[in-house]
Amino acid sequence: MNNIIDITGATNVACVIGYPVAHSQSPIMHNAAFRELALDWIYVPFGVAPDDLPAALSGLYALGVRGVNVTIPHKEAVMQLVTSISAEAAAIGSVNTLLRTAAGWHGHSTDGEGFMRGLLEHNVSVTGKRTVIMGAGGAARAVVGALAQAGAGEITIIARHPERAHELQLLGQQNNCPTRVIAWDAGAQAAVAQAELLVNATSIGMTGKADGESPVSAAWIAPGSCVYDLVYNPRITPLLHAAKARNCVTIDGLMMLAAQGAASFSLWTGCEAPLKTMMEALESCL
Ligand code: NAP
Repeated sequence: MNNIIDITGATNVACVIGYPVAHSQSPIMHNAAFRELALDWIYVPFGVAPDDLPAALSGLYALGVRGVNVTIPHKEAVMQLVTSISAEAAAIGSVNTLLRTAAGWHGHSTDGEGFMRGLLEHNVSVTGKRTVIMGAGGAARAVVGALAQAGAGEITIIARHPERAHELQLLGQQNNCPTRVIAWDAGAQAAVAQAELLVNATSIGMTGKADGESPVSAAWIAPGSCVYDLVYNPRITPLLHAAKARNCVTIDGLMMLAAQGAASFSLWTGCEAPLKTMMEALESCL
């Protein structure tokens, strides 16, 4: 599909549902990938209010939509509405991708795979590593699940509300990874200083949230460690800027964003996703 006027009755439709959805870069990324592979597919955004979620899912299925991405605020609620769910999505309690099956929607999460792809692209292994994750929200869940399954040595979660991070701790422990939760003001500096992999899963540093701020002071970062910021706008956050100055391997959030989309794309189409094209599409719209 090269152009919207090429749509025919045979064109396959994929979409993203969220509320709001206007900010989503997924249509640009996926439509670039469809064009690159000359696939007769199109990807459209739909704003779906929380109360309309059950009707929207039934409607999308009835309309023959082939694949759906699910974004904020529906990633948890949609779990109650699918006919089946993958082990990855069940473990982290979040769904970002729906696959059409004969029985109904199958829920899956590609967030963990997207996160791990960022590490792979930078030749960073997590096996046996001391890891620290800042933040305990939705993205942190995918990160904890992926790191524990990949054999991280230990996980420390630094949370503003540690009492809310109990499930996250269990998720790591259930995957045989020693996992603890600490508060920001209780040993965060020591944990960060010992981290071989430090992950920012808060929105600190993101344009419009805490612009120009870093979740940790530069002096805490262990020289030569790997620092991964899930924030992708801007690409070089104050945290990554500080980490570069301390000779760390730095990974920004754009690769994770592209790679989780690429994993959804492959599940829907059965084709290997053109990750480079998807990255370039995202870069062009940021
Ligand atoms: P979320 O569910 O709202 O969770 C955010 C977490 O950060 C919460 O634990 C929150 O603590 C904590 N936090 C926020 N501001 C903080 C502050 N000033 N000090 C301490 N802790 C703070 O959000 P999310 O979906 O997990 O997303 C987190 C970040 O990751 C966002 O910037 C998002 O854009 C990014 N992200 C990137 C990708 C990607 O593909 N690259 C994918 C998903 C998310 P409380 O619970 O105490 O509020």
